[in-house]
Amino acid sequence: MKADLHCHSYYSDGTQSPGFLVQRAIENQVTHLAITDHDCTAAFDEAPGESTEISIISGVEISCGWESLEIHVVGLFVKHKNPELQKLLTSQQLARRQRVQAMNEKLEALGTFGLLDSLETMPCIAYTRSHVAHFLVSKGVCKTHPKAFKSHLGKRGKIYVASDWCGLAEAIDAIRAAGGIAVLAHPGRYPLNKKELEALVLAFKASGGGALEGSYRNIDPKDTQHLGRLAVQHGLYLSAGSDFHDPAARWTDIGRFPPLAQAVQEHAIWQHPIWRDHYCTSL
Ligand code: AMP
Ligand code: MN
Ligand code: MN
Ligand code: MN
Repeated sequence: MKADLHCHSYYSDGTQSPGFLVQRAIENQVTHLAITDHDCTAAFDEAPGESTEISIISGVEISCGWESLEIHVVGLFVKHKNPELQKLLTSQQLARRQRVQAMNEKLEALGTFGLLDSLETMPCIAYTRSHVAHFLVSKGVCKTHPKAFKSHLGKRGKIYVASDWCGLAEAIDAIRAAGGIAVLAHPGRYPLNKKELEALVLAFKASGGGALEGSYRNIDPKDTQHLGRLAVQHGLYLSAGSDFHDPAARWTDIGRFPPLAQAVQEHAIWQHPIWRDHYCTSL
């Protein structure tokens, strides 16, 4: 078994269709794939469910606020039509539209036009800063995607607009209302020291969070060890995924991330009752 439980389609800031992701996963011997778009589940209105080659898990990645930080919570096994989940996602999608409109006003004041028109030609439902970065590169305003984040889209950037996300507990509640497991995404990527990260893990667990992402692309091996220990200590499961967005981005691929350590296999998310129930009942 090989599970990749985090990736993006063109319904958020991935460049490819859900069908492409599924094919790529099969080519890479992935047996369980979760598509986890930012604040949207449109992929599951079209992606095939079960096949003999691969199991597709319905997921989502919700942006939320905790203290003064932006935190990402992945939901796995969500019943994507659940009204409580969709109510939250609709409000997040609206916040994303309003943010991009505010960014567009700032961009027009700087003399660059056409952002909203360019977004309308795309299938995306959740507008992200990544889309704005692509637009800035296509217009020649910025040389590369990371440079666009630095000069325009990051906190000190020229067209930065603060986001109006839901709270951590709201995101977890919506995922659980939809029958899913809430997973704290890429915990090593937040600007937190060890003590602060533990405070986040405690708050996440207290709000009903079920798992930490214990492995992802480019994870520092020290983080893998530390996250494994945190999961054991706080009674959480461990998930893992590539966070794949784009086949043109070198060094990223579906299924490409270090495996969970052998020592923490009993905490792997495939031991979770929801995972077990899901595959027992669908056999
Ligand atoms: P948003 O959720 O709209 O704020 O957009 C965040 C998305 O932009 C993330 O999911 C990443 O895919 C991408 N991203 C964030 N920071 C960077 C960066 N420094 N360079 C390139 N892409 C980034
Ligand atoms: Mn993204
Ligand atoms: Mn993320
Ligand atoms: Mn992601």
